[in-house]
Amino acid sequence: MGKGGDFSQIHVLVLPLLTQGHINPVLQFAKRLASKGLQVSLITFCGNKSLEIRDNSSVKLEPVFDDLGADSVMEKSIDDYLDRLEAVVTFRLPQIIDKLGMSKSENTASCLVYDSALPWALDIAKQQGVYGAEFFTFSCAVSTIYYNLHEGLLKVPIVEPCTFMAGLPLLRPHDLPSFISDIGAYPTLTHLLTNQFSSFKKADWVFFNTFTSLENEVINWMAYQRPIKTIGPTVPSKYLENRVDDDDDYGVHLFKPEIDICANWLNSKKTGSVVYVSFESLAAPGEDQMEELAMGLKRSGRNFLWVVRESEQKKIPANFIEETSEKGLVVSWSPQLEVLGHKAVGCFMSHCGWNSMMEALSLGVPMVAPPHWTDQTTNAKFIADVWRVGIRAEIDGEGIIGKEEIERCIREVMDGDQSEEMKRNAMNWKKSATDAVSEGGSSENNIIEFIAQLTCNNHISKPQA
Ligand code: UDP
Repeated sequence: MGKGGDFSQIHVLVLPLLTQGHINPVLQFAKRLASKGLQVSLITFCGNKSLEIRDNSSVKLEPVFDDLGADSVMEKSIDDYLDRLEAVVTFRLPQIIDKLGMSKSENTASCLVYDSALPWALDIAKQQGVYGAEFFTFSCAVSTIYYNLHEGLLKVPIVEPCTFMAGLPLLRPHDLPSFISDIGAYPTLTHLLTNQFSSFKKADWVFFNTFTSLENEVINWMAYQRPIKTIGPTVPSKYLENRVDDDDDYGVHLFKPEIDICANWLNSKKTGSVVYVSFESLAAPGEDQMEELAMGLKRSGRNFLWVVRESEQKKIPANFIEETSEKGLVVSWSPQLEVLGHKAVGCFMSHCGWNSMMEALSLGVPMVAPPHWTDQTTNAKFIADVWRVGIRAEIDGEGIIGKEEIERCIREVMDGDQSEEMKRNAMNWKKSATDAVSEGGSSENNIIEFIAQLTCNNHISKPQA
């Protein structure tokens, strides 16, 4: 039984997009709900392979296999993958809802929490007599920019040197999400992110993976458009307020982390002496960029732990690993939270994906931010100028971040003039992140309120199946 009542009759089914950056926050939110006594299940659309998820998770898995070849579709194009996902989930979701008995009884409350990238899921939930809640995995700032685009409040292509939107700082074109500053470059993804708002006003609840003190103004502005609930950061509880049993890891890895190798190596290094370098789980930097990065790390003279996915390792310059073996370790995937939480790590060089950012803020690690694309550009703006926990590495005329720039940024964050202030700010954000999910904190209160509204069935009238 969860604190405050018996919620075992409440069933929440969660549906994330299956990339590491989406499944992590959605699953963590699911675990928090389960820790309060709700029944929670997670739908995974995984082609014909099953997903590795830790057994002792309080969240049950509902894998949706696609025998018709989702894996080969995934290799073809993102459009094909998304079309296939919609077709298969549209067919299977009603069966899962039925199997779990979610729409049967007048006395049970149940809700589908769907990734905002899959807004069509709301109609399916409603047709089955189940509530629907939309979950946004990006920052509120980035989502607000897409909202402005969706509502016609932001005109593209961007021609002004600075863009003003209520609740946000002035943004130069290169601070905007790249799919907006470079409109037309990735039409499918731009459509996907703008289209998140097609169900925004119809959903029974809307969740954001952020916390109020982090994005206060823009959250207030968004809440003025419709009620929203911030529930972040969705970092495992062990690294925050440590109240959720067994919540010390995400429990799902799309790649296999080199846990012992990282831990042993970090244990041999002095406090604060290591730069942890990790780029995103999806895109692949070009060979030139990899070479500049490698040379920049070498020139900085610092210890470094660099994550380079197996498929990318051929781009590492010849002999680099041997030449830097005294100072550096290259791994194909890391247990990122353990690494960021290790006392040897003094700086995080990250592409600034939203989860990685939230992890760095929650663990109090200052950052070097070399954004590549999508929301990373906007996140880098906030790191450098709003939260003041790091600096942005700038690209040169060729569109590459050069070795001198990499070296300069590492030195600045590790022991430049502002490094002490950045470390202090990072530690303050760690405290604010922990407060948000602790008893009486804003995110914790929002979760409790959601459960209360769902239980009382008085938030909205129950959808008719
Ligand atoms: N991650 C990890 N090991 C690595 C690199 C990344 O476990 O070596 C995790 C990281 O902790 C984060 C997620 O992968 O939770 C990446 O999400 P993010 O939003 O930062 O970036 P994305 O890859 O989705 O662009």
